[in-house]
Amino acid sequence: MSVKTWKSDEVTIEIDYDKCNGSAMCVDQCPGEVYELQDGKAVAAYIDQCIQCCTCVEVCPQAAITHSACE
Ligand code: SF4
Ligand code: SF4
Repeated sequence: MSVKTWKSDEVTIEIDYDKCNGSAMCVDQCPGEVYELQDGKAVAAYIDQCIQCCTCVEVCPQAAITHSACE
């Protein structure tokens, strides 16, 4: 299990890299432009821009994203 974690003052985002297949759905659909792909995996590079809408959790086809505001 390889899970990477990002934290801002308000939220925590975890992505399970055993599940992420680089679909980029989170990159394309996040209204805050929080995500980008690095080496074929999503990273929450701009987590400070998160507006806690939970779209990323809903659109990820692999259920790879865990978001502290969306549980
Ligand atoms: S909760 Fe919304 S704004 Fe925050 S990372 Fe997910 S899609 Fe982007
Ligand atoms: S939507 Fe899910 S599977 Fe696709 S890049 Fe983002 S975290 Fe990975």
